[in-house]
Amino acid sequence: MQANSNKTLPGTHAACDSMCNSHHIISQHTQAGLFGQVKDFFSKLFNTADWPPRWHCGTWSDFHGWLYILSDISIGAAYFAIPFLLFRIINKRKDIPFPKVIWLFIAFILLCGTTHLIDAGIFWWPAYRLSALVRFITGMVSIFTVFALYKILPLIYNLRTLDQLEAEIGERKKAEAEMRHHQVMKLAAEELIVKKDEFMSIASHELKTPITSLKASLQVVERMANKNEVLEPVVPFVQKASKQVNKLTEIIHDLLDVTRMQAGKLELNKTDFNLTEVLKECADQCQAEDSRHEIKIDAAPVLMVHADKNRLDQVLNNFLTNAMKYSPDSELVSIKAAKLKDGTVKVSVTDYGIGIPDDKIENIFDRFYRVENTSKNYSGIGLGLYISSEIIKRHNGQIGVNSVLGKGSTFWFIL
Ligand code: ADP
Repeated sequence: MQANSNKTLPGTHAACDSMCNSHHIISQHTQAGLFGQVKDFFSKLFNTADWPPRWHCGTWSDFHGWLYILSDISIGAAYFAIPFLLFRIINKRKDIPFPKVIWLFIAFILLCGTTHLIDAGIFWWPAYRLSALVRFITGMVSIFTVFALYKILPLIYNLRTLDQLEAEIGERKKAEAEMRHHQVMKLAAEELIVKKDEFMSIASHELKTPITSLKASLQVVERMANKNEVLEPVVPFVQKASKQVNKLTEIIHDLLDVTRMQAGKLELNKTDFNLTEVLKECADQCQAEDSRHEIKIDAAPVLMVHADKNRLDQVLNNFLTNAMKYSPDSELVSIKAAKLKDGTVKVSVTDYGIGIPDDKIENIFDRFYRVENTSKNYSGIGLGLYISSEIIKRHNGQIGVNSVLGKGSTFWFIL
């Protein structure tokens, strides 16, 4: 650069000429009014006649001037490079969050870079109007960027860190592995259940024939023993054996019923009949087998229902035998049957026996379920209530139990 004053030091640039101290111009502008000033500003946007290049405004040493210029150029260059890189990032990674804010950053940084480049250029080309306009736009965009950034701050705070994401992925993988393991176990359990059902079905069918033959043979022996005085002492033993065979037959029937139910082959033979009569017959039969209990019936003389008589008899029989079995220390078992307001019939069997713990009640109608602590002293295989509930469900009825541990239970069904 050339020094344009004799008084300047070597390597320095001239102090400003008259234009640099242009009070006359300023006063002209301020007199023009705001609208006039704006009009004048835009019409002379690229006009540089009102100012000297910055080299000639003030006293610049080469070092100072070039330090200013090169710094501005390097800031400007970096400010142009950063948006380019940001653009590449959002172009490649479509999953980057908040892309709109990144676009605002790109605009803001580009504008900042432009102000620095213009600033460097002003040393030769004093485009102060253009510089002001670019700075104004930069100011607006930066305020907008700050506002946008402030708005998404809570969302940014909520973004998970890489560590958190990795931990989450780890947990998810673990959960998936556990789920796969459970699925494998479930499949294995299902296979086992199918095999067990198959076994139960085959075993109960195979057992049925010899038991029937055994039962018939015992009946013949009993008849013969009854006729022969010598064999009379054998009669009670044969009767005992017959009783056990009957129990065995009941178990086999239960097992066959369960396999039928599992296969969806339980067929109902519905007829219209008086349920009170069935109650009475069933109570008489149970009473005959267990004289320790007294069964009381409270039922309307006629309660007509449309259902499978034998299957309902089976349910009642199960309720009654359970009531007597699980109330060894009390005598009373009561049966209630009545028509409800909606026309359905409710039957309940109440005992005052061991009762059922609250937390076990929901499982009581499950297959092979027995209340561990209380039932181990009583014979049974945990199928009666399951079969009863399936029978009632097939009738579209409801079945349930109310029970208090140590006080007794009421089993009921509604048809
Ligand atoms: P089982 O009597 O052969 O075990 P059930 O299916 O009839 O099978 O009954 C399932 C379980 O419900 C029984 O093992 C017993 O624990 C419980 N339970 C059934 N009836 C009663 C009752 N009246 N009082 C107490 N517990 C009962």
